[in-house]
Amino acid sequence: MNDASRADYRATLNLPATDFPMKAELPKREPARVAWWNEQQIYRRALERNAGAKPWILHDGPPYANGELHMGHFLNMVLKDMFVKIALLEGRAARFVPGWDMHGLPIELETLKHLGVKDFHQIDPLELRAKCKERALYWLERQSSTRERMGVFAEFDRPYRTVDPSFEATIVEALATLAEREQLYRGLRATLWCIHDETALAEAEIEYETKVSPSIYVRFRADAAQRTEILARFGYVGEENAPLSVLIWTTTPWTLPANVAIALRADATYGLYRVDDELLILAEALAEQALGDAFAGAQLLASLPGSALDGARARHPFAQRDSVMVLADYVDLESGTGAVHTAPGHGADDFATGVKYDLPILNPVDASGHFTAEGAPYTGMQVFAANDRIVADLRESGALWRFESYSHSYPHCWRCHQPVIFRATAQWFIAMDQNRLRARAVEAAQGVAFEPEWGRARLVQMLENHPEWCISRQRTWGTPIPAVVCKGCNESLLDPRVARIAAARFREVGADAWWSEPVERFLPEGFHCPRCGSTTFEKERNIVDIWFESGVTHLAVLGHDATLPWPSDLVLEGGDQYRGWFRSSIVTAVALEGHAPYRCVVKNGWVNDEQGRPMSKSRGTGIDARDAMATFGADVLRLWSASVEFVDDVRFGPNVVEQVARVYRNIRNRIRFILGNIADLPPEAIVEPAAMLPLDRLACRVTDAFVAEVRERYAAFGIHDAYLAIVAFESEMSGLAFDAWKDPLYSGQRDGARRRSAQSALFYLLRGFLTALAPLLPFTAEEAWQSLPEALRGDRESVFALRFADEHRVSNAADLALWEQLRTLRAQVAASNSPRDFEIAVDLYAGGEQFEALAALGETLREALIVSEVRMHRDPAAQSARLTIGQASGAKCSRCWKFRDLRDGDARGAICEDCERAVSALA
Ligand SMILES: [Zn+2]
Ligand SMILES: [Zn+2]
Ligand SMILES: [Zn+2]
Repeated sequence: MNDASRADYRATLNLPATDFPMKAELPKREPARVAWWNEQQIYRRALERNAGAKPWILHDGPPYANGELHMGHFLNMVLKDMFVKIALLEGRAARFVPGWDMHGLPIELETLKHLGVKDFHQIDPLELRAKCKERALYWLERQSSTRERMGVFAEFDRPYRTVDPSFEATIVEALATLAEREQLYRGLRATLWCIHDETALAEAEIEYETKVSPSIYVRFRADAAQRTEILARFGYVGEENAPLSVLIWTTTPWTLPANVAIALRADATYGLYRVDDELLILAEALAEQALGDAFAGAQLLASLPGSALDGARARHPFAQRDSVMVLADYVDLESGTGAVHTAPGHGADDFATGVKYDLPILNPVDASGHFTAEGAPYTGMQVFAANDRIVADLRESGALWRFESYSHSYPHCWRCHQPVIFRATAQWFIAMDQNRLRARAVEAAQGVAFEPEWGRARLVQMLENHPEWCISRQRTWGTPIPAVVCKGCNESLLDPRVARIAAARFREVGADAWWSEPVERFLPEGFHCPRCGSTTFEKERNIVDIWFESGVTHLAVLGHDATLPWPSDLVLEGGDQYRGWFRSSIVTAVALEGHAPYRCVVKNGWVNDEQGRPMSKSRGTGIDARDAMATFGADVLRLWSASVEFVDDVRFGPNVVEQVARVYRNIRNRIRFILGNIADLPPEAIVEPAAMLPLDRLACRVTDAFVAEVRERYAAFGIHDAYLAIVAFESEMSGLAFDAWKDPLYSGQRDGARRRSAQSALFYLLRGFLTALAPLLPFTAEEAWQSLPEALRGDRESVFALRFADEHRVSNAADLALWEQLRTLRAQVAASNSPRDFEIAVDLYAGGEQFEALAALGETLREALIVSEVRMHRDPAAQSARLTIGQASGAKCSRCWKFRDLRDGDARGAICEDCERAVSALA
C-alpha cells in the first residue's frame, strides 16, 4: 500500500477500523475488566441464562489461607476456571463456590511468631484463636483478590471458609454421625509425632528428607540360664563359657529405653557364630555385611530358622529386664542383622507386634521429646540429643558391637521440617476397617472417572495403605473434638449427643464456645459416665486434623440447594492430593453418605522452572502469581496454562512465556483484522451461511468443524489439544480465507453483496472463535466482544452470553475436503516465486466431481488463489487438480492492483470496471 499511485485511491478503499488495539497492555487493562465483570455481574447473568439447565459442579479443593499464591496455584486455579467457563458456554448451570482451608498449625505457628510468643501454652487460647482468625482472613482476602485477578469466575462474595460457624458445625456433626456409627475410637497408638510442634501428625503431613543418624549394632546378651536355653535350641553342645549375644541393629538409639523385644523372621536362617571369644546370633544372609572385618575369622557353629527362636530371651543392654524374641513378617534381609530391635511405643510395625504379642507398650518420652522418669537414666534429655549419650554408655558397658554414621531418608514434619518421632499417645481415630469403610471406599473409587486414568489405581493404593486415621491434634487453632473426660474415672467419651449439642452451639456462636463456655453447656440432661456413673466432666482440649476439615468440604458446600447438588461433577487438584484431599474426601463421604463425593477426579502436574527443577525463590525462579500477572498479564499466563500438557509436570519461565506471547499476538492480530473489517456491517445486512458466496460459506463450515473439535477436546479435558486446534485454525484462516478476503473487503463496493457476504462470514467465524477462546483467554475474548458495534452484540452483553450450541451447526466432509484442496492449490501459487500474485493467471486442470466442486466456487476460486484470473479446464484423466501459472492479461488496476482491461481513469490512474463501480457508488 505504499505504492504512490494507489495512495490516490486510498480514501475510496474500505480500510479496517476498530478500537481494539494492536498492543494488548494486559497488565494495565485486565484489572479494569475484572471490575467491569463485577459491576455488570457477568458471571451471575451467565448463570441466570443457564438457570433451567442441569447443574454442573466443579467443587473447589481449598487452598490453605497462608502466604501468596504461586504459579502452581495459578495453573490449578485457572484450569478449574477454564472448565467452569466451558460448562457455562455449554449452557450448564455451573456454580463455582471458592473455598479456603483456614485452621491448622501453619497459621497458628505464623501467628505465634507474629506475636512473639514462643510456647503456645503461654497464651490464652481465645486470644490466640482471635489472632489466628485475623491472620487467616488477611490471607484469604489477599488470595481471593489474586484469584479474581486471574479472570476466575466464582462466587467470591460467598466463599466457603472452614472458620465459619456453619462450617465448624458441619465438622462436628460429621463427628457425631461417625461416633453414632462406632467409626471413631480413642486408642493408644504409636503416632507420628512432631516434638517441635507437640502434636500428632497424619501420614499426609509427613515429608521425607535425608537425615544422618547413628547406625549401631548392639549386643543383647543372654544370662547364664538364657544362654543354656538358646544353645539347646541350636542343638549346639560346646564346653566353652564364651558369652552369647543376639546382635541387633538400629538407627534410633534413643528408642532403646523402650525396647521390650527382638523381632526375627520366621523363615530366615539364623546362625550361631563364634567371633573371637564370644558367640553372636544373627541372620546368615546378613552376617558378612554386619560382622564386617570380623566375618573372615568368624566360625559358623550351628543354624536354625527364626521360628525356632520364638520366645527365647536375652537381657536388655541397660534396663533391668529381658527382651523377648518374637516373629514378624516385616523383618527384611536387606540391612541390619535380621534381628530387629522392637519398641512398641516408638514404631508403627513395633506397635502392631506389641499388640500381637501383648508386650508392654512403653512410652518414656513426653510431648516435647524429652525422656520422662520412666526413661531413666536419660530423664530430661531430648531424644535426638540423648543418642550420643546412649551410644557412649553402650560402648562403655561393652554392649556396642559397631558404630557408623548413616545417611537415610527419614520422616520430617511438613510444617516445621524437623525430624519426627513415633510416640505412643492416646488419640482419636477413624477406624478404617470398621463398617468395611476401607473396602467400601475402594469400591466407591471404582465408580469414579479419572484423568489421567492411572489416578484410580493411585487413589485405590492410597486407600488400601491408609493407616488408621488419627484425627486429633493437641493444638488450639482448629475445630474442637467435642470429647469430655470423666472426673471420676478419667475415661474419655466422644458421645454423639454431646457432639450434636456442641455442633448446634457452634452453628450459633462459633467453636470458640468450646473454650469460653462451661462443660455443662454441652451435656445432655442426666448425662453420666457409662463406666463409673460419675456426672462431673471436663472438656478435652483436642482439635480436629485439618485434613478432616477439608475432607468434609463436600458436605459443607454441596447438597443443601438444588443448584449445588452432591456429589460434584469434577474435582481438579495437584497430584499430591491422591494422598491428601482426594483421599480424605472420599473416606468421609463413604463413611457418612455411602458414596464418592465426586464423579470425576482430574490432576494437574507440578510447575517447575525452565530446566525442569522445582521453582525456587533463592534461585530466582520462584514467582508469585500476583507478580507474574503484573509482568505478563493473566491472559498470556492462561495461554501458557493451555499450551502445556497440564496432567504432566510443566515448565515455566520467561523464555517459555515469550513463546506463548508470540502465539498470543497472532491470535490478537487476527481478532483485530476481523473486528476492523466488520465494523460497518449492519445487522440487517448479515447473510446466513447458506446464502453466502461459496468461499465464505466454506469458511463457515470449517469454523463449524473447528468449534466441534474444540468442544470435543474440552469435554475430554484436552485443554492442550484445544489450544493446538485454536492455533491451527488461526493459521489456516490467515493462510487462506483472510488473505483471499482482503481484496473484496478493501476494494469491493462498500455495501455490495460480495463484501457483505465476506463480512457475514467473518462475524460468523469470530463468534465461533471467541466462544472457543473465551475459557482460555477470557480477558481478550471479552475485550474483542466489547469492541464489536453494539448492534452486532445484540442481547449478548458479554462473550459469556455466547453458547457453543448456537455456534456449532453443520459439519460436511465434502466441504472440508474442498477446503483442503484449496489450501493445497493456494500453497502452490504462493510457492511460485514470480510473478507476483495479481500478475498471475492460473490454468487449472481437474476431472469429474473435483472439477464440478472447484467450478462451483465461481469467482471466489480466483479470490482464494489470490490471482487475477483462473481458467478451468476439464481433464478427465487428472487424479487430482493441478495448475500451471502464467502471466495475467490486461494491465494493473491502480486501485485494486488486479490485472484487468482498464477504463480511462482520472488523474489517479486507470482502474477496472469493478473499481469504477465501487468508486462511483461513493459519490
Ligand atoms: Zn513440626
Ligand atoms: Zn467415669
Ligand atoms: Zn480494480
